[in-house]
Amino acid sequence: MLSRTVPPLRTSIPYLTIAALIALLALAAPAGASLPAIDISGLHHELIRAPAEYLSTTEDSTLEEVRDRDFQPLTAASVNQGITGDTFWVRFRLDNTKGNDSVPWVLHHETSYLDHITLYYGNGDDILKEVSLSDRVPFGDRPLDYRTLAFPHETAAGGVTDLYVKMAYAPNKADSVSLNLHLSETSLFAERTRGEYMAYGAFFGIMATLLLIALLGAALLRQVVYLHYALFLAFSTMMWAALDGFAYQYLWPSSVFLHNEGYHILFLATSITALQFSRHFLKARDKLPLFNRGAIILQVIMAAGIGLRLLGVYEPVLALSFASLAILAALPVIGYLAWRRGQHYARWYALAWAVYGVGLLISVLSAGTPLFNWGMDPLVFTQISAVLESCLLLVALGERLIAWERDRRQALTLARQDALTGLNNRRVFPQALEHYQARFRQTGDPVYLIMIDLDHFKELNDQHGHDAGDCVLRGFGRLLRTHCRPGDTCLRYGGEEFAMLVQVREEVQAVSIAERIRDAFEQHPTQYDGHFIHHTLTAGLAPIFSSRRRIEWGEIIREADAALYRAKEQGRNKVVVFSAAADGEPVKVSGQQGVDSVRTN
Ligand code: GH3
Ligand code: MG
Ligand code: MG
Repeated sequence: MLSRTVPPLRTSIPYLTIAALIALLALAAPAGASLPAIDISGLHHELIRAPAEYLSTTEDSTLEEVRDRDFQPLTAASVNQGITGDTFWVRFRLDNTKGNDSVPWVLHHETSYLDHITLYYGNGDDILKEVSLSDRVPFGDRPLDYRTLAFPHETAAGGVTDLYVKMAYAPNKADSVSLNLHLSETSLFAERTRGEYMAYGAFFGIMATLLLIALLGAALLRQVVYLHYALFLAFSTMMWAALDGFAYQYLWPSSVFLHNEGYHILFLATSITALQFSRHFLKARDKLPLFNRGAIILQVIMAAGIGLRLLGVYEPVLALSFASLAILAALPVIGYLAWRRGQHYARWYALAWAVYGVGLLISVLSAGTPLFNWGMDPLVFTQISAVLESCLLLVALGERLIAWERDRRQALTLARQDALTGLNNRRVFPQALEHYQARFRQTGDPVYLIMIDLDHFKELNDQHGHDAGDCVLRGFGRLLRTHCRPGDTCLRYGGEEFAMLVQVREEVQAVSIAERIRDAFEQHPTQYDGHFIHHTLTAGLAPIFSSRRRIEWGEIIREADAALYRAKEQGRNKVVVFSAAADGEPVKVSGQQGVDSVRTN
């Protein structure tokens, strides 16, 4: 049975020969001949992922060296490689064998700071062409006018394109590596680029508007904190322009130096200005001295970092610039402390930095470590948070301005107020006089000054103690206020002297006001420490604006004082009206030959 079913050896020879030939061919064929294929018939946009494969080599490597090596599947987990000086390879086949039309496409990397991409590409046979993209040549030398390194090509209908993509920084230079490569159908790439322009245009538009507001604030309010805010906004926006690749595309397209050395300088400048703004905004020198000192030390270190970067020092400055951004994540805590210590506007500051600081921290971790699988997506979210934080900081500045204005008004009120009685003090006197002069001009009703002096106050102090004297003064302040009609002005002129300005129709009304106050003070002794202190006062009264006579500005107090002095002489506890004759005022009389002469009564 068995011998019949097994063919004789002679008849098997052709099969064995074919199998051996196939095995030989398989061994002889180059390992890279069949790359993992990605179907691109009907391509829109996609991130290059497995079945695409990647490989990293510690040394700079050539295509021949890596071709036969074992590549790993390029999964999301392998995208963020952290900071490394390794050379990375990604390989795949773009398969359009099912397609009836050729597919034009653009392959681009997601970051603007990758130094070199070398592409080896071919149409499925083993002959690969080579093209080099680099950000170490002027921007204009790129095959595509795009903010990151991009390569345009086309895969024929029914054909394939094999690709080896080599990505590396300049020799001996480590930086943050992402393996995210975007593949877009060409017309969709153009559409996506337009969308990007809209989104980034909105971002830079908002930042420019905020910058303008900050500069206007600095110019109009003359507050240096707005200038620090403007500087922070300017550097932060420039940092994003550099990271997005727009700075190289539009601001300094021919400066290879600025493009490559600019990143870390802008990171550090952003951190320095953020700390400078924070120190001023939180009045750190007075309110948070420890933070102030720490921030100054950090600023000096960061400034030194900029100097070193300009001198060509690379790796320590890279670490410092990443750390400087991460440090900003601590600012919400500082804002919270300032808020708890009474700067209530610091809550907006804390919120602003909570939004931005966390974003920056995640971005730094994402770019600097393999912790996350998000490529450089956190940068986009951090950029959105930058807008939010800048707006919140503007709100914080607004609230700080309101608080500043309130403090200023309060200080002004305090400066015009007498601490003991709560009445106005004599600082308001000149302004009150101007006010009454204007009112007199409008209505023609005379204005009287009543000067009040408490009697024998020195004695009262000596007898009952200074505290008792204070208590009497406070009580008199209350009494005066109750007799102060709307439109009257009452103030403590100094010591136990008070002044009152009243506008009345007739002199008798002014006298009656003074008389009522005198009477009330006499009738209501002050209760102090279980006993009553009896007291009296004396008032002198003079018209200061009236149609009968004009008074010189400097003489206003003198006449009421003269009347007061006379009342004291007449035994105190009185109200006396100034009389030119009785109070010894110089009286102007017409002299002969039409010249005024002065005679004293
Ligand atoms: P006269 O009847 O002539 O006005 O005598 P007098 O003692 O009231 O006047 P004098 O100007 O000699 O003394 C005023 C006193 O008022 C002296 C001062 O110690 C007292 N005095 C001034 N300011 C205050 C104060 O704020 N509190 C107290 N307790 N006493 C004050
Ligand atoms: Mg006195
Ligand atoms: Mg007195």
